[in-house]
Amino acid sequence: MLNIQIEKTNQPKQKPEPEELVFGAVFTDHMFVMDYEISQGWHNPKIVPYQPITLEPSAMVFHYGQEMFEGMKAYKGVDGRVLLFRPEKNIERTNKTNDRICIPQIDEDDMLQAIKALVDIDKDWIPNAGGTALYIRPFIIATDPYLGVRPSNTYKFMVIACPVGAYYKEGINPVKIWVETEYVRAVPGGVGEAKTGGNYAASIKAQMKAKERGYTQVLWLDGVERKYVEEVGTMNVFFKINGEIITPELTGSILAGVTRNSVIELLNAWGERVVERRITIDEIYEAHKAGILEEVFGTGTAAVISPVGELNYRGDMITINNNEIGALSQKIYDTITGLQTGAIKDEFGWTVEV
Ligand SMILES: *Cc1c(COP(=O)(O)O)cnc(C)c1O
Repeated sequence: MLNIQIEKTNQPKQKPEPEELVFGAVFTDHMFVMDYEISQGWHNPKIVPYQPITLEPSAMVFHYGQEMFEGMKAYKGVDGRVLLFRPEKNIERTNKTNDRICIPQIDEDDMLQAIKALVDIDKDWIPNAGGTALYIRPFIIATDPYLGVRPSNTYKFMVIACPVGAYYKEGINPVKIWVETEYVRAVPGGVGEAKTGGNYAASIKAQMKAKERGYTQVLWLDGVERKYVEEVGTMNVFFKINGEIITPELTGSILAGVTRNSVIELLNAWGERVVERRITIDEIYEAHKAGILEEVFGTGTAAVISPVGELNYRGDMITINNNEIGALSQKIYDTITGLQTGAIKDEFGWTVEV
């Protein structure tokens, strides 16, 4: 158990109107902060007013990018309860990321306690309207003032939060995806399965290239042969081909999404045929040609389900399911969002009350 020191703000901010909510632009009144030092371990847990932090310009995170982050949401339940969705998965993943980039492990119960404490103190910031939530961003940065390359001896763990609006304002619109053949996101043995900022820095260029061409996101191919599908933008990806649902298996360069895992477990519970295996972009195009590519969708905390309506691979454009959301995608979306808000009875034990 952490003994969290709490300093409440005496200048609460104006909360944005629900219809004005933009992802990641407005932060709640407080933040959680905890320090790490070799002799003391993680210590000094506190909740303070949301504010800038002071770091030395030589802090290691600025130079070699030793940092990790997580992304999860708190929902205002239909009965007024505040619910987290499978937070233990994000916490488990935090320590996997930490291990990969040599950040010290964090106690799982302590991390959950920190998240719950921040959500509780800022619970009035959780919007009520359908589809809205409080986005929670835990992260850790290396803070040693040192320019040599080695793991830092000091770190800061922080949790900040922002109210987010409905991802889909006018129904679920399928997105146009650019299949990237020049740049790659991750390679075997690299950090693709770690949730670390460097993966995003490495992906921005391809993202800009896709945007310029009128596409929302890129579809990443594997970094070695550039033929196996890995992810879509910052989401995992699923294909429904001839009644079977296929998602790329976790080979080390793919981020193991909590939503991905939830979709697989749901599909299994429904008795659907779901397989995790490597799948090439050619196989997808062949399935389309054969008329058996039924649905394509991305999965992630932000959108839950994001149907793909169009793919462009080397100038060859295909339209999927008439550019409409598929029946299965819709059913998965309705079920997961229903579970998250408590509108559907949680038989999986996925929700955790704050
Ligand atoms: C976070 C993330 C995902 C989705 O993970 P969820 O836990 O479902 O939100 C997928 N791909 C990448 C690269 C990510 O960073």
